[in-house]
Amino acid sequence: MLPQWIIEKKRDGHPLNEDEIRSFIRDYASEVIPDYQMSALAMAIYFQGMTTEEVAVLTDAMMRSGSLMDTSSINLPKADKHSTGGIGDKVSLMLAPLVACSGVAVPMISGRGLGITGGTLDKMESIPGYRTDLSQDEFLKVLDKCGCSIIGQTAELAPADKKLYALRDVTGTVPSIPLISASIMSKKLAEGIDSLVLDVKWGTGAFMKTIEDARKLAKAMVGIGQKMDKGMTALVTDMNQPLGRTAGNAVEVIESIEALKGNGSADLVKVTLALAANMLVLSGRSETVDEATKELRGHIDSGAAYDKFCEMVLLHGGSVEAVNDTSILSTADIICNYPSPETGYVSKADAEGIGKACAVLGAGRTAVTDTVDHAVGITDLVKIGEHAEKGQPLLTIHGNEQNKVDAAILFLDNAFVLSAEKCHEADLIVETIT
Ligand code: URA
Repeated sequence: MLPQWIIEKKRDGHPLNEDEIRSFIRDYASEVIPDYQMSALAMAIYFQGMTTEEVAVLTDAMMRSGSLMDTSSINLPKADKHSTGGIGDKVSLMLAPLVACSGVAVPMISGRGLGITGGTLDKMESIPGYRTDLSQDEFLKVLDKCGCSIIGQTAELAPADKKLYALRDVTGTVPSIPLISASIMSKKLAEGIDSLVLDVKWGTGAFMKTIEDARKLAKAMVGIGQKMDKGMTALVTDMNQPLGRTAGNAVEVIESIEALKGNGSADLVKVTLALAANMLVLSGRSETVDEATKELRGHIDSGAAYDKFCEMVLLHGGSVEAVNDTSILSTADIICNYPSPETGYVSKADAEGIGKACAVLGAGRTAVTDTVDHAVGITDLVKIGEHAEKGQPLLTIHGNEQNKVDAAILFLDNAFVLSAEKCHEADLIVETIT
């Protein structure tokens, strides 16, 4: 079958068979099929969609375009969590050590921030010395020793997706549920895990702007994982305001460390425990989410989760001294308050606007090759439902250049709404899909 016949078949709304999908991806990865034909197929998929069977085959083909992580030497259940991304989403930093404390290995391969959404790797790299580029052997050794490791995507992991994702980025074919699902799942399933919990975010600071789209994406990814015999659960969670009270890199590390010590903000702790508890249930370590949550809280209270985080940092070459004394982490030159324009209850603390403010401060990137400024971001965010007097800070800005601080303030000016009445707070966890 010539590539153009496969494109025409999808263009005309017919499902592709396994051979057609596998040969197309194989030939694209090996440069036999050029970018223009792959773009045409991606656009046909964008308009015509794919059946669950087609998406499962596409995922498998992309996953097998590289090497699969062999985690069989780790004699524990292996589980991971994936978030579709948001502002202030520091869940992984707390979740990985927490879950490892319960005897479930967490081989976490994370991404960098792009645009307004932050990335776990950038956050971890705020810790002096922390290496995110471990070899597969080093990664397995860390996992074996402490039960969790957070690293970046290796060149061998799902290379077809890496190529296709870059192409989609410049051909208007990113927002397609089958393509997003196959892209995310091909990378996660190559990690050699038994189960996966998804945090599919909806809202202004998320990829999916409506609950309905987030639900569709969650169901598609759960379906793919189950077809591949993985334990799967997805939570649909709110991303209309940042998670926790900080957004940036070093500032989020500090907030995560505080949360591991038992001083976390309620929303951050709630989402983290819910995701982690579902990992314990899928791994057979707990019967119920409630029982798992109790156990996980115990790891915070006893200090075990904090110690586990320190152990992971040390095994990655990171400075435990900086974890114990966070004043060692990079700090910004300009630290100033953003005052409330009036007295009232915060009814909007827009994740997108705050994310853009952080991005212009230098916490994010516009291109994958950009470097981030680890020190900048925001802290002390007053959350929806909380009261502020006129002039009282709604957040603190951390910046290194005055012109960037000024640009950030312009975004913040549109990010907040205060009301005389306390507004109804949206559900943080909207739905659980199994
Ligand atoms: N993240 C990915 O890894 N792939 C997508 O297609 C979208 C988000």
